[in-house]
Amino acid sequence: MACPVGALYEKDDVDAVWRALQDPTKHVIVQEAPAIRAALGEEFGMPPGTLVTGKMIAALRRLGFDKVFDTNFTADLTIIEEGNELLKRVKEGGTLPMITSCSPGWIKFCEHFYPDLLDHLSTCKSPQQMFGALAKTYYAETAGIDPKDIVSVSIMPCTAKKFEAQRPEMASSGYRDVDYVLTTRELGRMIKEGGIDFVNLPDEDYDAPMGEYTGAGTIFGATGGVMEAALRTVYAVVTGENLPNLDITPVRGLEGVKEATVKVGPLGDVKIAVAHGLGNARKLMDKIREGKADYAFIEIMCCPGGCIAGGGEPIPTNNEIRVLRSSALYADDGKVQKKRQSHENESVKKLYDKFLKEPLGHKSHELLHTKYTKRGSEMPHGKDE
Ligand code: SF4
Repeated sequence: MACPVGALYEKDDVDAVWRALQDPTKHVIVQEAPAIRAALGEEFGMPPGTLVTGKMIAALRRLGFDKVFDTNFTADLTIIEEGNELLKRVKEGGTLPMITSCSPGWIKFCEHFYPDLLDHLSTCKSPQQMFGALAKTYYAETAGIDPKDIVSVSIMPCTAKKFEAQRPEMASSGYRDVDYVLTTRELGRMIKEGGIDFVNLPDEDYDAPMGEYTGAGTIFGATGGVMEAALRTVYAVVTGENLPNLDITPVRGLEGVKEATVKVGPLGDVKIAVAHGLGNARKLMDKIREGKADYAFIEIMCCPGGCIAGGGEPIPTNNEIRVLRSSALYADDGKVQKKRQSHENESVKKLYDKFLKEPLGHKSHELLHTKYTKRGSEMPHGKDE
């Protein structure tokens, strides 16, 4: 993202994905993070902030993916698991503030520089990894496919997601949760290599059972989005009613550290904070270390602006572009999606009915939750894995 001459770039996985797509013995499925739909068009000359969800799905089908699913589906699922985890910690006196765990760049930073505070991290896997674990269990079962024949590909705005997918613990189904991670730029290259006229593609829709999403899932891609999505559901679970206004504007925008207090029925005032960029993360983490953080819940994203400006997104990225890409996601949430709260996702409800049974239950713990590694800051290079 920062190298002016393109000498530093992601580890390229395009050839491996082409090989999987051309292997007739493999069933290749794909998920795309929310930030992709707000930026992929830029690789084809479309203005920043153009929402290209339908064309992206159409392009992935034409590349040969057997099923086109969505990371937003498991973003909604993350909110159910994480919201329940937060409530459990509040009720049972668990470690607070709880901190989000979706951003592998942030997680690795925390493992190195704040290993004493790892208990604050939510144990939820990121939506990418939840999707991967379900792809080789729930989906394999539903579709009657042997999980060894499933290749699970994800399209991410993020170079750190390649690392996250390879963490040794990310194989709870007995197989790698996610086999290959491509960045937005790599997907752009594949679409060009495939000779697909992206701009003139028709809009197509996701496949079931892992393609439905709500507006809450889509705003994960912008700083503050996970917090906003979580508060919508936590409020509804605790009070039995919807938040009077689903737009929680104090957590939106590019201010480095954002704070808000939300009244949540019998829980009273819930104080929350949001940071993006690791310098801002440090400010909140130092506050926790000093015992001065009275928040219940903190969202931290590694990249300034959140995933819409991740290391795998189209270049250039600047604040003007960050605002435009975020606006596309908020428009998807506010104007396109009819449902805006994760607990309203019918496919997620079905997943619980048929497979997981309950949030934080046995299967969830096995497949959707994880643990972290104390790495410390003095590890010699290459010795920290
Ligand atoms: S904030 Fe950056 S490092 Fe974290 S998941 Fe998003 S793109 Fe990846």
